[in-house]
Amino acid sequence: MLDDTKEIIHTELVQCTEATSSGALEPLGLRRGLTELLDLGLEVEVMTTDRSSSIRKIMREQYPNIQHEFDIWHTAKGFRNKILTKGKKKDTAILLAWTRSIVNHMWYTCATSKGNIEALQNRWKSIIHHVCNEHEWRDDDGTLHQCDHPPLTAQDQRVRMWIGKDSVALQALSSLVLDKKLLKDLNQMALFKHTGPLENFHSAMLKYLPKRQAFSYHGMRERCHLAILDHNENIVKRRQATTVTGEERFKQVFCKKSKQWILKKVYTPHTTDFVTDLIEKVLENRRNPNIPFKMATSSLALP
Ligand SMILES: [Zn+2]
Repeated sequence: MLDDTKEIIHTELVQCTEATSSGALEPLGLRRGLTELLDLGLEVEVMTTDRSSSIRKIMREQYPNIQHEFDIWHTAKGFRNKILTKGKKKDTAILLAWTRSIVNHMWYTCATSKGNIEALQNRWKSIIHHVCNEHEWRDDDGTLHQCDHPPLTAQDQRVRMWIGKDSVALQALSSLVLDKKLLKDLNQMALFKHTGPLENFHSAMLKYLPKRQAFSYHGMRERCHLAILDHNENIVKRRQATTVTGEERFKQVFCKKSKQWILKKVYTPHTTDFVTDLIEKVLENRRNPNIPFKMATSSLALP
């Protein structure tokens, strides 16, 4: 999926018999797909994936010229679960009151760093000061740091459940925030890339590839292509719907997970015009006396 337009430009379908284990399928598909795109002359500057160790290794060793970024959503979700686990004990339960703020801080950190790794690291670490009601501090070498937010009001100061500086809870949080592996991963999140739209495509794909049904390799491949045609058509064409007076439309939705009402954009209806185009192409080929009726579509050089 292209990062700027969210259009899908290439897909690989790997059969389980091609790899030694299910875990080897993804690296195989990645290598194959990326090689094909590079061979076509596409210049890939940045590639975003989840943090799977096999993919990291391939990117590091075989594609050192491509900047490998990690998806913020997966990392933030994993970090949230870690805080929830730590907060299970009585003396660290206060962390639960901070979970949402800390996870939001991770998003904010990556969103505002614009590729600056040093700024990212400082901003991220600031959370262990902020939760103690400390908004200005010096690090070991004497450099002064401060939080990005405006000064807190007396009301803000009162309502927050500040964490004690010498508490077990802060120690537990610090161990998570300053985890070496996480700090290293964050360096690959400074461009604030997401694979969320790709996950959305994967769920939309189920319309063409329902999981409870089995398909042949070719059937699966063509269904996957149909899902992509559908996706690409709508990602390009669909706009936010407007009212008669031209105002952008939104709807209120209750989010069960966060237990909050949120505003969602209302889009223009989904279309499948590509189906008409495909049917016309099929009829065109059927009328063409040079194309035998039983010739497989894959052997045709279609435009
Ligand atoms: Zn602060």
